[in-house]
Amino acid sequence: MPAQLIDGKAIAAKFKRDIREQVDQMVARGMRRPGLAVIMVGDNPASAVYVRNKRKACAESGIVSVAHDLPYSTTQQELIQLIESLNRDPSIDGILVQLPLPQHIEQSVIIEKIDPAKDVDGFHPFNVGRLALRVPLIRPCTPYGVTKLIDHVGLSPKGRHCVVIGASNIVGRPMALELLLMGGTVTVCHRFTGDLKPYVSSADILIVAVGRPGIVRGEWIKPGSVVIDVGMNRGADGKLCGDVDFDGAYERAGWITPVPGGVGPMTVAMLMKNTLESAEARLDP
Ligand code: NAD
Repeated sequence: MPAQLIDGKAIAAKFKRDIREQVDQMVARGMRRPGLAVIMVGDNPASAVYVRNKRKACAESGIVSVAHDLPYSTTQQELIQLIESLNRDPSIDGILVQLPLPQHIEQSVIIEKIDPAKDVDGFHPFNVGRLALRVPLIRPCTPYGVTKLIDHVGLSPKGRHCVVIGASNIVGRPMALELLLMGGTVTVCHRFTGDLKPYVSSADILIVAVGRPGIVRGEWIKPGSVVIDVGMNRGADGKLCGDVDFDGAYERAGWITPVPGGVGPMTVAMLMKNTLESAEARLDP
């Protein structure tokens, strides 16, 4: 029997509706709307699309988004000064710096300059550390969104074999921490793992975040498993595709996310959720 699709777009839309309602209630209680500063340096076309989606989601969720579109020539010091002024700005609850940054700017230095209480991407070492220590505060958006998709399927990771392919700071590593927190038995594969097939075929829950189309073959998938494809690639035909051979995996999995319309919208919805919660903590402690 073919898999059931996990409709990330619809699940994300429900999150955004709920956030909108909560924001409207805040405003009715006399509070201001949550504010998100979105910083983009340079004009990377993929980043421009992601930033546009985030600003659109703010409008849908009742969150004020403040655009800071900076030229490629912006220096690290100029960017730090902007972040420090946003850290002090009482109308701003969340600061998002769209990655990747130009090569002359050190990403980790910039992330560490963001006030952890406004780090709505959840990338600051303080927030990653809180997640590692099982006391999460602001959680990295993509892995957090994946946990919501797993909740939606209704299959608890507790005691199950969860395999994460990819070990980046923004997806794979925090994903493994989230799955551990959910009680999963977690294996993390990465560029030095070698043959992925034995790991994939023993996964009850498989999360793939590599950035290489077809790296996971459909015939490797454990029948009935949950397959979450984080990968976002532009295929030879110009269309968006994930990392998993979708057609093959669809025949074997129990549940699977499409690309587009799976993880991507959830990442943005979790950004809205983090911004709302950051505002609530500031305005209504
Ligand atoms: P990254 O390049 O930082 O990390 C890729 C990871 O894949 C690394 O840990 C690397 O070790 C691993 N890897 C590389 N080759 C491998 C191999 N042969 N076998 C096993 N592992 C291998 O990428 P990232 O930022 O984590 O993003 C991964 C993918 O997810 C990209 O396609 C990106 O566009 C997508 N992404 C999607 C969302 C979303 O919201 N949908 C968010 C973030 C990233």
